[in-house]
This record gives sequence, C-alpha cells and structure tokens, in this order.
Amino acid sequence: METRIMTCIGCPMGCQLTVEVENNQMVSVTGNTCKKGVEYARDEVASPTRMVTSVVRVPGRKAPLCVKTAQAIPKDQIFACLQAVRKAHVNLPVSIGDVVVPNVCNTGIDVIATRNLD
Ligand code: SF4
Repeated sequence: METRIMTCIGCPMGCQLTVEVENNQMVSVTGNTCKKGVEYARDEVASPTRMVTSVVRVPGRKAPLCVKTAQAIPKDQIFACLQAVRKAHVNLPVSIGDVVVPNVCNTGIDVIATRNLD
C-alpha cells in the first residue's frame, strides 16, 4: 500500500488529500471536504488529466492569441501539447472557440481560441 498526498483542485479550498493506493487503484481518501475530492483522487490515481492554456504567436501582432484545450488532456501529453501549440499558425480573424490545433497529440481534444482577434 502506498500513501500519496495531493491537493484537490476541484475548487479554491484546495483540500489536502491523503490517498491510499494499491495496484494503481485508489483504496481510500481522507482530507476531502466534499465528494468531488474523492472523484478527483480516483481520477488522479487512475489517469491524471489537466487543462492546458498557452498562447500562439500571431505574425504582425504584438499580442499573442490565448488558447486552451477544450477539455483536460492526459497529464503525460502536456509537453507534447505545448510543442504542438508552439508550431501552430493562425489565420485571422479568430473567434472564441475556433479550433487552433485539432485533435492535439491524437487525444481527440482540440486546442481552441479563448479570445477574439481581428
Ligand atoms: S474536496 Fe471539495 S471542497 Fe475540497 S478542494 Fe476538492 S472540491 Fe473543493
């Protein structure tokens, strides 16, 4: 049995969780204030994911285009995702929600614009 300490990111309270893990499965969790902490711990043990935010340079513009993944992607894909975003090119105009990098790193998840840029 392994004990992992993690901070729930389900809300700003940031509860400190103590998670007992066996065979890569959550056995128990303490320190959570609500049931979201249990779900977070279970997901974090089984397949951790994160939302990724970044920026894309736009030729001729001072301000870059802010982007994010449309959903959380596997944590081990974050670096590859950021590399793909760095190589991205955008054609203006761009609207919030427009796909900037489709199916980033074959995750099935798009990187989308988070602001309008004319
Ligand atoms: S366990 Fe609940 S209250 Fe605590 S940080 Fe997670 S979501 Fe917030």
